[in-house]
Amino acid sequence: MRWAFIGASNIAGRWMVDAVRSVGDDVIAVVSGDPDRAKAFADAHHIGHALADESPLKGLGVDAVYISTTNEKHEASVLRAAACGFHVLCEKPLATRLESARRMVNACHVAGVTLGTNFHLRHNQVHQMMRDSVRNGALGQMVCVRVNHSVFLPHNLQGWRLKDKAAGGGVVLDIAVHNADSVAFILGEYPEEVTALTGNSGMGEGLEDTAMSIWRFPSGITVFTHQGFATPYGEKGIELLGTKAALKGISMLDQGSPGTVTLMSDQGNQLTEMPDVNLYNKVLENFHKALRGESTDMADGKAGLNSLAVALSILESAKSGQTVHVNYGHPQGQ
Ligand code: NDP
Repeated sequence: MRWAFIGASNIAGRWMVDAVRSVGDDVIAVVSGDPDRAKAFADAHHIGHALADESPLKGLGVDAVYISTTNEKHEASVLRAAACGFHVLCEKPLATRLESARRMVNACHVAGVTLGTNFHLRHNQVHQMMRDSVRNGALGQMVCVRVNHSVFLPHNLQGWRLKDKAAGGGVVLDIAVHNADSVAFILGEYPEEVTALTGNSGMGEGLEDTAMSIWRFPSGITVFTHQGFATPYGEKGIELLGTKAALKGISMLDQGSPGTVTLMSDQGNQLTEMPDVNLYNKVLENFHKALRGESTDMADGKAGLNSLAVALSILESAKSGQTVHVNYGHPQGQ
């Protein structure tokens, strides 16, 4: 399959060129708003076409596009790709507004092309084990989940994320969407209510760099999530607490770390080291499964929309001081 990359971004160069090639596909073009950056990216990654806009893509025999521009630009590129009949893998958050995400999902549906959202974390082995444990009842009745996802934003990423609201900056749109996708993947449901507080510790320039939230699910499960940019230390992970047992996943919210998981029950604690898996290669493998109509763990466009709805509810709740009923635009985020 022949891919065009829209966005000469850090994530594209660091992970996604190799991920596309890992499944035997080609990256034949890169599009950047800056021709010099397009050329530098194409040269660095041995890509044939360096383009300053998307219009030539149709004539190049492109099958799919990977979109990793800043978040406010995703919608226009997805709509253009759908109109050209290209399949789409789009970065998270899918958009900065729910109406945009709806238009993106609808456009791809109408065009009959696949839309994937690049949520890599659900392909981590701890996530998969947690989902299976919830499904098979190994933890008893699920009571609550705690998500610790406060990080230190690396210096090379301390640009638009800290100061550009229009681009979708702020820790909520950046990290809470991951948490929404991870928890929904594990529990098989999306929250109906969100209560949140956001804060600024001095790293964000007018935007929140820390946020804590509590979500209530239709099943009654409650979930606590902490997402932050300004904390170099502290444990990151997800804990599932059930009536019979608990699972504690540590260091499994990173791009490159497989993490560990500890099963806690009346039998004691049992720690398992997880195998190292390239999560972005898994995204591509699952994208291909979706194209073939096979069962897949791919986060589709609806998953991107739903996670955005949760993140926007966090921001709304923090602003209003009220608990917010999550508006997915369709019943219960399904
Ligand atoms: P970058 O800041 O690296 O790139 C975003 C855009 O900024 C690029 O498309 C590029 O525009 C422009 N840009 C890149 N480098 C420069 C530069 N040196 N000077 C000026 N402009 C520049 O973004 P990220 O890679 O951090 O994020 C891109 C997208 O990917 C976002 O949607 C983000 O949320 C998502 N993301 C997802 C991750 C995941 O694990 N799924 C991880 C990290 C990010 P142009 O294309 O016009 O050249």
